[in-house]
Amino acid sequence: MRVFKFGGASVKDADGLKRVAEILKATDGKIIVVVSAMGKTTNALEKLVPKLNAKETEVLIREIEEYHYGIAKACITCLYKDKVCDILQETFSELRKLVKEYPLTNYDERYDQIVSYGEIISTHIVSCFLSDEGITNTWIDARKFVCTDANYRDAKVDFTKAEKCFETLTKSDIIITQGFIGCTTDGKTTTLGREGSDYTAAIIAYCTNAESVTIWKDVPGVLNADPKKFSDTVKIERLSYQDAIELAYYGASVIHPKTIKPLQNKNIPLYVKPFIEPASAGTCIDADSTPLSIPCFISKADQALLSLSPKDFSFIAEENLSFIFDIFAKLKVKVNMMQHSAINFSVCFDNGISKLPELLDAFQDNYRVLYNDNVELFTIRYYDQATIDKLVAERNILLEQRSRYTVQLVLK
Ligand code: ASP
Ligand code: MG
Repeated sequence: MRVFKFGGASVKDADGLKRVAEILKATDGKIIVVVSAMGKTTNALEKLVPKLNAKETEVLIREIEEYHYGIAKACITCLYKDKVCDILQETFSELRKLVKEYPLTNYDERYDQIVSYGEIISTHIVSCFLSDEGITNTWIDARKFVCTDANYRDAKVDFTKAEKCFETLTKSDIIITQGFIGCTTDGKTTTLGREGSDYTAAIIAYCTNAESVTIWKDVPGVLNADPKKFSDTVKIERLSYQDAIELAYYGASVIHPKTIKPLQNKNIPLYVKPFIEPASAGTCIDADSTPLSIPCFISKADQALLSLSPKDFSFIAEENLSFIFDIFAKLKVKVNMMQHSAINFSVCFDNGISKLPELLDAFQDNYRVLYNDNVELFTIRYYDQATIDKLVAERNILLEQRSRYTVQLVLK
């Protein structure tokens, strides 16, 4: 059994769906297909989470509805035309009811109940479309298998439970299921974090002992840098799990960072392949450990750098550090790099939805606090001095850390 994952960009229109069908027609054997929400649907659904008035809600839902009906009608033209319309009608009426009635007492909980509809809808359309094309497939609800805790929006998977659930899965030739979503023990929908569908593919592969995972992307494979930010990027043919984890963790957006570890644990290879050129080799990520011969660049924007010195002149040691991390954990701020000296602690973290005021507030009594917002974190794996010099030209290095293979720089 193999696992394929198609992201939102791959299923954003009728042409994308047709390509999915082509790829599946050209593939033999049992496949579990993990599908994301279509295009930017997750962003659109996010707007329905805060309480809006009835008119605003209806405008937003109608937009999402029209987009999906548009795709469904453009590609499902035969036997499954009525079926897909029935399913969409029912699903959108459930969504309307949910948006109207689900309490806002826990924002994150409401978020997951609503936003998960993107994947539910997309998989229904994909499944009906494949049937329409004569590709026999079974639609399954990932929430019956992907068991999680109740940490909404970033739910933690219970792999032992999930593995048990997957034992009950009847393996037909092609199974269509949702990425990104899971379920708590008391039946509430959860999500695994934005862009989490890659991770779902890895969870399923782990739980079913799959032969491999293929993530179909709109890039030729894993590149040594983001082509939107750097010129002269090079495709990497083969990458170790270790390198892939490091690159993804520090912001290479090609793969969700949580994806690699479950695959590494069971030695399942991961292929990243171009959607528009299915025959191309793409990138293979496996246990091979040859260091890369070219440097890889990853940049993370929207970072802030905070520098703390205890006001009581104490050293930065166990007690201070545990106090500091306790605050970061409570505020759910993701730390990307840190450094300390005797009396100073510097930390670089994701500042997308700015938690700076809350952090400053929490530290001000006990620490002298300095900060820089709007900084960028650069990671170069397999660095050399020439690449560093090129990168930092005309920029200020605020913090730097080097290990044998990786250098990290906070730049302003
Ligand atoms: N649809 C979800 C998102 O946009 C999950 C994914 O695409 O991987 O974040
Ligand atoms: Mg996506």
